[in-house]
Amino acid sequence: MLLKNDRLPELLQSLSAEQRVYVPSNTSNTSAGVSRFALYGTGVEPDFELVNTTMPPKDLLFPQTQKMYRYGFDTEGLPFINAQHDGDEVLLFGIRSCDARSIECMDDVFLTKGFVDEFYQTRREKLITVALGCSHVAETCFCDSMGLDANRAPSADVQLTAVSDGYEVHAQTEKGTTALEAWRPFLTETAAPEASPSVPNVQCTLKVDMTGIKEKLDLMFDHPLWDEISKKCITCGTCTYVCPTCHCFDISQENKMNAGERFRCWDSCMFSAYTEMAGNHNPRAEKMPRVRQRFMHKLCFFEDRYGKSLCVGCGRCVEKCPVALDITMLIDQIGALELGAAGQPGATESVTEGGSHVAH
Ligand code: SF4
Ligand code: SF4
Repeated sequence: MLLKNDRLPELLQSLSAEQRVYVPSNTSNTSAGVSRFALYGTGVEPDFELVNTTMPPKDLLFPQTQKMYRYGFDTEGLPFINAQHDGDEVLLFGIRSCDARSIECMDDVFLTKGFVDEFYQTRREKLITVALGCSHVAETCFCDSMGLDANRAPSADVQLTAVSDGYEVHAQTEKGTTALEAWRPFLTETAAPEASPSVPNVQCTLKVDMTGIKEKLDLMFDHPLWDEISKKCITCGTCTYVCPTCHCFDISQENKMNAGERFRCWDSCMFSAYTEMAGNHNPRAEKMPRVRQRFMHKLCFFEDRYGKSLCVGCGRCVEKCPVALDITMLIDQIGALELGAAGQPGATESVTEGGSHVAH
């Protein structure tokens, strides 16, 4: 099936009458220069040429601030606790492979290993993802080094592939097949997928070699590299807020007389208060263990628990870190290390600060 370019606006218009449709946009009413997935409608123009948005789409599943419960006493003086779930179906239109993989990582965290986060689950069940193969890449993209294909996102419900006059449309899940029923009036039957010439497959220009990185990190908890690279981090937390897979949160409540609300907000492992406990104990009070934790979680610990990397190679942190603490350079540095048996530097090795693949 083919979605011709000139039918796309009509399709979005029609779908948005029935469900909330989010599109990549530079024109949402947010800070200038910050692109994000925004609700299609008045004042929001989709921009499908954006390689990836400044802010990832994770807030549609895991909002930056989310009400969880209302509690208090009812009119008869009996206590109540009500979970707060929002019920709208959401169509996430135009995500890239990296963001589709990031949703797989979030699913692992919030829905598996014997634990289900009901607030995430409610939103996830109502989310339909439409992936769009990349027609070009940014200089900070390195998804193919992380095992992804910029042209295709197998876990998305629907895959769009650019061809010369529009997009080939393929349902990849049952949810996707059902969703495409509403698209039919806007699609053209094609005799064969190759009827329209395909836009060539794209490859990332930024490459990292992940061979042996996990195995080295397994030995590197006490390596001096962490002291070296953490020096320049200013613990601003930007890397964690723009990362599509970071999912730390804090829970708070607001009480008003005899009722209140419990809510959660994004937090960051780069902040010292994140691990602060009652009694002032803090296992990561210093900066080095926090920087180490972020990179070890991305490249080592998550793979131990879920069998995949928590970095999807979107490059957002590479682009936005104000001091150019670049995960791709860290991977290069780790790759170049000769480790002794205990993971400490080998006899001839010294730790040097890395440069950068990209201009910051
Ligand atoms: S964005 Fe850079 S400086 Fe800020 S916390 Fe992350 S690594 Fe540190
Ligand atoms: S660590 Fe950086 S490159 Fe990797 S997924 Fe997060 S923001 Fe993207």
